[in-house]
Amino acid sequence: MHRGCGFPICESATHIVPGEGDPAAAVMLVGEAPGASEDLEGRPFVGRSGKLLDELLVEAGLARADVFITNVVKARPPGNRDPTAAEVAHHRPWLLRQLELIAPRVVIPVGRHALSHFAPGRKISEVHGAPLEHAGRRLVPWYHPAAALRSPRLRETLVEDARALPGILASA
Ligand code: URA
Repeated sequence: MHRGCGFPICESATHIVPGEGDPAAAVMLVGEAPGASEDLEGRPFVGRSGKLLDELLVEAGLARADVFITNVVKARPPGNRDPTAAEVAHHRPWLLRQLELIAPRVVIPVGRHALSHFAPGRKISEVHGAPLEHAGRRLVPWYHPAAALRSPRLRETLVEDARALPGILASA
């Protein structure tokens, strides 16, 4: 429960969205920030993007309960704008602690904003779907499902990337 840190997006949020899933998950998915549906429910990826993410997990042979799902920023930036650098910095210790405690074998940065947090300067169009070692972490970047909802071609790519995950995990 949030007890009032005074930071603007934490105070304006309906719910803080810390993340959910298996605390010992081998796979951790990290999106950008909660949207309107997530803010209302207090859970990550429960809106339209979340439905597609669930389908992608099925393609990867996984259920939501098998993985841990969170976001770089844990409170909704009003109006669905991109989080500011100050907002990312405010919640960074929380994400770092989650990474430390869960210690996933693979982190899936979901979308280019999350990727820029884990591997600054890398382009999602160049690195999606394949393992990328960065700062001692094994990343497998995915396009954001919201982008795939707007583009059938990206959706196919995302499904292919999801189907490749079991093979990557087997060799991780
Ligand atoms: N988009 C994100 O990046 N995260 C969510 O939790 C929902 C939508």
